[in-house]
Amino acid sequence: MTEAAKGSRAAGIPGLVRGLAATARTLARPTHTSEYPDAPPSLPPRSRGVIALLAENCTSCMLCARECPDWCIYIDSHKETVPATTPGGRDRQRNVLDRFAIDFSLCMYCGICVEVCPFDALFWSPEFEYAELDIRELLHERDRLGQWMATVPPPPALDERSADPAEVSALGKPARAPRAPRQAAAEEGQA
Ligand code: SF4
Ligand code: SF4
Repeated sequence: MTEAAKGSRAAGIPGLVRGLAATARTLARPTHTSEYPDAPPSLPPRSRGVIALLAENCTSCMLCARECPDWCIYIDSHKETVPATTPGGRDRQRNVLDRFAIDFSLCMYCGICVEVCPFDALFWSPEFEYAELDIRELLHERDRLGQWMATVPPPPALDERSADPAEVSALGKPARAPRAPRQAAAEEGQA
């Protein structure tokens, strides 16, 4: 063995000892990995796993489909006439949802659709076990999106120090007493 080889071998021994010491320390620490799928991972409750649809709330306004950067939301709807409920009233038109689908093979889980929906029809569910062997199966239609609603966690509790919403505080206020006719006339004269 040459002198250079002997020197490098001697220099490697402290490194080997340090490596063994690091291994021994790590052995004593709890692991950060889990034996998935035998042990399910512990995910934060608001994880973005899959998008759930509450079709009853959807008005087919198309806002989510227009804002989706990947164009992977497909909505079909038709207009329906709702007859007037009062004599002399006008008939109204409303959208009826025919199809709502999300293609999760294109979705990038940005959450824009959930954020922009003005009618609380889209929610995040932490469920993530819906991998498919056929990519076409990742197109979830309305029924499948609706089934995910059962896995949506409840919203976080309100901050107990926050002010009551206007509707709740209005309930606690005493009803306004009717004004006397003379007082009402005086107030209207001042206005
Ligand atoms: S999460 Fe983003 S990419 Fe996926 S459907 Fe919604 S808007 Fe489109
Ligand atoms: S934004 Fe909401 S209400 Fe409008 S089409 Fe999308 S899911 Fe339906």
